[in-house]
Amino acid sequence: MPGRHFLQIPGPTNVPERILRAMDRPVPDHRGPELPGLVSEVTSGLTQIFQTASGEIVLFPGSGTGGWEASIVNTLNPHDRVLAFNVGQFSHQFAECAQRLDMVVDEIDLPWGTGVPAELVHERLSADRDHSYAAVLVVHNETSTGVTSNVGAVREAMDAAGHPALLLVDAVSSLGSIDFRFDEWKVDVAVAGTQKGLMLPPGMAVVCAGTRAVARSDEVRSRRYFFDWRPVLAEMRQGYFPYTPATLMLYGLREAIRMLGEEGLAGVFARHARLADGVRRAVRAWGLQILCRSPQEYSNTVTAVVVPDGVDADAVRRVAEQRLNLSLGAGLGRLKGRVFRIGHLGALNELEVLATLAGTEMALSMAGVQVPVGAGVTACERYFIEAQVTPAGRSPGYSQQSAVSSPSKVRTRQK
Ligand code: PLP
Repeated sequence: MPGRHFLQIPGPTNVPERILRAMDRPVPDHRGPELPGLVSEVTSGLTQIFQTASGEIVLFPGSGTGGWEASIVNTLNPHDRVLAFNVGQFSHQFAECAQRLDMVVDEIDLPWGTGVPAELVHERLSADRDHSYAAVLVVHNETSTGVTSNVGAVREAMDAAGHPALLLVDAVSSLGSIDFRFDEWKVDVAVAGTQKGLMLPPGMAVVCAGTRAVARSDEVRSRRYFFDWRPVLAEMRQGYFPYTPATLMLYGLREAIRMLGEEGLAGVFARHARLADGVRRAVRAWGLQILCRSPQEYSNTVTAVVVPDGVDADAVRRVAEQRLNLSLGAGLGRLKGRVFRIGHLGALNELEVLATLAGTEMALSMAGVQVPVGAGVTACERYFIEAQVTPAGRSPGYSQQSAVSSPSKVRTRQK
């Protein structure tokens, strides 16, 4: 099909030309002199994106799932008790990962479309008087439902309960798109991948380990080899790796960090908030339901749209793919066929969102779903025109900031 493919799934996201060009180079010697400078720029940029002064970056070839595994085997002993909340497919799989690695997981089933309730965290941890829970697992942005949990409130609940459990957070579809505050929320380990807000192809797990978690990795007995972060930390501090790193991805990552720095983290978060708001206005104009129940928990990176009863969401996706060259995200797990997901994260601007919405309303209509054609695009367009009038509503590329905003400068509202 001529023209470009619209990849509007919630990750992998579109890789900007600038990043592709940065990776289009001869493979360097990964034990040669080029590496330390590259690794140092990447790790210092990532710590700014995680908003941490104390956390250390660990990179593994792999994906977010590998990051989960690393977060667990480096901080927990087999048979440790773990508290987890099933609010979607990824939070369920994070819990499943811990279970398969021999943890005893209390997985609390909650309605999909809601976030992790801080009150429940408080209740469970307060009741755990002998502090048997070793960790709490939370997915910051549940990509399967389009819900962002309030990690800051979870941390406050843990502190209010006086519980020492570690806080392991999946930031796979939030990092670099939605405000994520590693230090302020006293996160012990955060896990991300390269293929979402960091705008790279899939291929690396990006882990941030806090001081408590790093210390714990020397004490725990969980079996690990590839995902043992101790040799990785030791080598990365010198600018190298104990394994063969994805060197070309590192050049891409450096470029991505520079791009995020030019826009400024606050600008990146504001852009994602604006684009997401435009998408939600379109969904409402179609008369369809957003799966996320509470506006406080709306995700700024992905919107799960509920299709009317009797409609197969996958049929809508198939039409979009085959007739319009537009990829939308599938409903996962128990949401299969019930929702489709619009990804609005990474390198994305207003016109791309409008084209996505145009394609989505066309596909809905072609698949026989009665929506007022043009209503979604119009609602979104009107909103973007209003938002564009204020400087905060400017598109990326206008800002001339040279470095990733320091954490103290980044103070957008936590959803
Ligand atoms: N966690 C979340 C929130 C995700 O969205 C995903 C994948 O989309 C994962 C974990 C799994 O990551 P990966 O597919 O990179 O292994």
